[in-house]
Amino acid sequence: MTSAYPLLPDIVEDLRQARPTLWAGRGGQTQSTHHVSVEQVQQAVQRFERFAPLLAQLFPELQASGGRIESPLLAVPQMQAALGLSPDLGQCWVKADHGLPVAGSIKARGGVHEVLEYAEHIALQHGLLQDGDYLQLASDQARAVFARHQVAVGSTGNLGLSIGVMASALGFKAAVHMSADAKEWKKQRLRLRGVQVVEHAGDYAQAVAAGRKLAEQDPFCHFVDDEHSLSLLLGYAAAAPHLAQQLGQAACVVDAEHLLFVYIPCGVGGAPGGVALGLQQIFGEHAHCFFAEPVRSPCFMVEMLAGESALPGLGPHPSVYELGMDNHTEADGLAVPSASQLAADVVRGFLGGVFTVEDATLFRHLYLLESTQGMRIEPSAAAGFSGPQALLNSEAGRDYLQRHQLLEQMAQATHIVWTTGGLFVPEAEYAQFLARGQKLQQTA
Ligand SMILES: *Cc1c(COP(=O)(O)O)cnc(C)c1O
Repeated sequence: MTSAYPLLPDIVEDLRQARPTLWAGRGGQTQSTHHVSVEQVQQAVQRFERFAPLLAQLFPELQASGGRIESPLLAVPQMQAALGLSPDLGQCWVKADHGLPVAGSIKARGGVHEVLEYAEHIALQHGLLQDGDYLQLASDQARAVFARHQVAVGSTGNLGLSIGVMASALGFKAAVHMSADAKEWKKQRLRLRGVQVVEHAGDYAQAVAAGRKLAEQDPFCHFVDDEHSLSLLLGYAAAAPHLAQQLGQAACVVDAEHLLFVYIPCGVGGAPGGVALGLQQIFGEHAHCFFAEPVRSPCFMVEMLAGESALPGLGPHPSVYELGMDNHTEADGLAVPSASQLAADVVRGFLGGVFTVEDATLFRHLYLLESTQGMRIEPSAAAGFSGPQALLNSEAGRDYLQRHQLLEQMAQATHIVWTTGGLFVPEAEYAQFLARGQKLQQTA
């Protein structure tokens, strides 16, 4: 067996030096150690369906879609050309979660799902859903029950937005624990919705720990635990069946001759892990998911390399700090020091790989996407655009393609770059991102 292992020392060196790099998976005997069934994902899909009429009533922006929180799959030929990706190497699409209603990011999937699952649980407990009519959950009686309960979460920003907005729309009390570096506009947006924002001095992981501890003391508080939550992961996974329909409508076949590559930004790994899981269940080995991380916050790559025993001297779940990195990045949605072990255990056996991206590249790609396709994203959401080149132009990427005999099929491949957030970024902030990207692009 030729394997990626001879390349591992180079990848670890790149990682330590904060140089963009790619680690490819599916190399050894690694198995996923946490199995999630197709039924579990289907339950999440059905939960979204049950709540759709209620969501359409609570959120005017969901009326047109009948309460479904979904995003389009968009062809991006000009962006593909700007990225220098020849059509001989497949066709490039954007899965436009940057415009997801309600939360303005991919967190609208996981975060909303977990709040809905909790609301359903409380409602059933109080006999509020006896005739199965979910519209009843907007009644004064139901809201009075929800008002006695709190939903809390630790967040760098976007997860807090999603959980806070959905929880308060249903009538729950909501508290979001944020790290000091969380963006001011995200805090303001939450406070405007009546969400309590608790600021913590340390990083994201410390905000989560502090929030978890406070919630443990309160039986009427549900803490959404980004690092361990299966409900979040299932909410993200529920994106896959709908994406499969969209691919069908776009006449994109996925099979042994028509490969699917998905490049998706990764923080703790819940969102990309859920998406990868859902796609694996539908397309099996023909879906190749690659996670994108900032060079100074590559927690998921670190978790995978530790699993391959490539980081001797460190524990089984090292943080990026233990490799000498500082976790500083403008991609605030991805500034996470330690991966979700749940997500890692779910995807380990089938993950295509993980690649890292410099902040400057995020801004360049944010600018290119605006100037070629008129799409407006936040820096975190740009991380996937380096994926095709990382795969096609790195030694580890080419080795992966060769090993799986994929090189001959690239012309018929579908590349999906998942853009994960942006809708609610304030104009002034976006203008700065754009100017920075333009300047970097001109000097690149
Ligand atoms: C949260 C987030 C991600 C990654 O999700 P994780 O579950 O933390 O891996 C990617 N992009 C954006 C914009 C996000 O807010």
